[in-house]
Amino acid sequence: MAQWESRPESRSTASDRSCPTVGPLWRLVLTLVVVSTLVIASGVAVVRDYVDRQQELADERLSASASDAAFDMRMWLDSGYADASVMKAQTGMTQRYVRWLAGEDPAFPSSGLDRMESERSILGYDYAGMFAPDGSVILASELDVSAAVSDLCPGLVAQAASSDEVVFADRLCCEGSRWFVAWGSPMRAAAGGPVVAVMVRAVDVSGPAQDLLFSASRPYRSGLLELVRPEADGLGLLSEADDFRVFSEPESAELYTNLVESADGGEAGVRSGSTAAGVPAVAVACPVEGTDWLVVSSAPIDEIDAPIRSFTLWVTFACALLVGLGMSLGVGIRRIRMSRYREHVVNQDLQEALGVRERLLANVSHELRTPLHSIMGFTDVLLGGLAGPLNDEQKHQLIMVSESSKRLLALVDDLLDLSKLRAGRFLVSVSEFTAVEVMDVVRRTMCPLAERKALACEYVCQVPDLAFNTDRDMLERIMLNLMSNAVKFTDEGLVRLTVMEDGADHAVIEVLDTGQGIPVEKIGLVMEEFYQVVEPEYARRMGTGLGLAISSRMARELGGTITVESQSGVGSKFSLRIPRVHPEAGCA
Ligand code: ADP
Repeated sequence: MAQWESRPESRSTASDRSCPTVGPLWRLVLTLVVVSTLVIASGVAVVRDYVDRQQELADERLSASASDAAFDMRMWLDSGYADASVMKAQTGMTQRYVRWLAGEDPAFPSSGLDRMESERSILGYDYAGMFAPDGSVILASELDVSAAVSDLCPGLVAQAASSDEVVFADRLCCEGSRWFVAWGSPMRAAAGGPVVAVMVRAVDVSGPAQDLLFSASRPYRSGLLELVRPEADGLGLLSEADDFRVFSEPESAELYTNLVESADGGEAGVRSGSTAAGVPAVAVACPVEGTDWLVVSSAPIDEIDAPIRSFTLWVTFACALLVGLGMSLGVGIRRIRMSRYREHVVNQDLQEALGVRERLLANVSHELRTPLHSIMGFTDVLLGGLAGPLNDEQKHQLIMVSESSKRLLALVDDLLDLSKLRAGRFLVSVSEFTAVEVMDVVRRTMCPLAERKALACEYVCQVPDLAFNTDRDMLERIMLNLMSNAVKFTDEGLVRLTVMEDGADHAVIEVLDTGQGIPVEKIGLVMEEFYQVVEPEYARRMGTGLGLAISSRMARELGGTITVESQSGVGSKFSLRIPRVHPEAGCA
């Protein structure tokens, strides 16, 4: 058999809950504006800090590379001094020259030239020349640079001849396209003797300087290392890739001019501007010790700013995401609050409407009872012949009036009970009684009805003295309703009422019949108000559809439930399970 159990109704309503509040819209807008401003301000601060750190980092890296290259350049110059000092200490060449002058060494010019040239080529100089103190050439390299260099040597020779130390000359060749440096070594025939000759060695700076600049490490992929020197009419510039050139127009080398000015104090200077190739760059200049040269390390601003750009993009994205999330969160919370508020208002309206309906129902039902009782009373008087004799037709009509009035009164009573139960105004009144006492009442009322339909009417009471302390009236009404349904929906067979003990505290009252039963899909609906099973194969029975709804509410009032088991065409079993002692009786 299919089974269904009535469930207790939740009595909590929306009005029980505290009223949800929704703040004014301007407060949400203000909060969002403040939060967004804070997020954006934090983003800007983070980006600024990052930009500062990147720029400091760029300055540090450029300074380190410039000072490393300047140091290497100084080391290279020092090696030239060292070679010249070695030459100054030698006397062999001078002695041969002196012997040759005295006509004692005829092989000298050519043998001396061979030695001088081999030393020059081993040490990597572009020019070597041996001069008499008066500037006349004794021996000289026969290279393409010789003419240019040798023309300018006499000044250096005169300086070295009158000095005891190695003499250094910068810008030995001033043709504009090449840059030579030279060292002059005073040479004696014997230690402490007079200067007999001066050995000059010159080198084009471009070769070794470019090697040094190329091999130096650079902090940026497109970074550039350049060697700069101030000229009387502009700036001389030697870069890793380009030959030496002189900028005589100061504006075309503004970046370098500024760097030269900033490095005047001997410290590295940082400037930004356009490089000689026209690329916007940040540059750091470091002086080469002992010279007026500067090593300039530069990097394109584009490359320095690349990480700043991507960082800014990420921060912007993160800020936009945060602001977006904040806005959606704020709007979402407001929407939820609004919908809760609306739900609350709707529930309140609903509660009010239900209250009005219940009051209306109760009042109307109450007002109907009095005239109905009058109609029934007068009908009974007429039927009893107290107002004079009636013919058969009149009696028949009056009986129909009486039955209709009774049905109407039953409906009104049901409606009144239901409205009281709904409103919680159906007061439980507990009393002590036994199982057999209630069963007798039901039996006396229902047996005649069952017998009128030729149904067997069975009453089983397993424990006649089973004691109850609950609302007797409600229990009787439930049992009468279940029994009257059983009789009403059964045409043959039996109806049986059984009262049993269920554990120490509960009792089960079963009403079983062999009637038409209830289709399985309708079992769950029969407890609903005004619901009646209408099937073509079943005969239409009288009723209001309120009996089971009232019974199940009353069962709940008693702290119990009603369970239905039924099978179409076989029969039904309604079981009421209640505590034998009502909780209110327990409290008393
Ligand atoms: P009423 O009996 O006045 O119609 P009820 O609320 O008591 O109203 O019953 C609701 C419906 O449940 C009935 O109309 C009937 O279709 C079904 N029902 C109740 N009891 C039985 C039963 N014992 N056998 C078959 N159907 C029943």
